Amino acid sequence: MDPQPDQIMGARGYCICTKCGEKIPHQAGIPCREETCPKCGAKMVREGSHHQQLMERKRKGENIP
Ligand SMILES: [Zn+2]
Repeated sequence: MDPQPDQIMGARGYCICTKCGEKIPHQAGIPCREETCPKCGAKMVREGSHHQQLMERKRKGENIP
């Protein structure tokens, strides 16, 4: 029972819109930054990535140096 590539941690997850927060399933082989939001057409980032965490903090109104 070898794990399939798409079952390995890191190959799954979601892409999140930098603008409206829309979430779509990450597609293997397609970097989130190359995806566009189905709702607003903005760029997307990988859920849980450094970029997404910064974005979340900004949305909550935190000051980021
Ligand atoms: Zn969007």
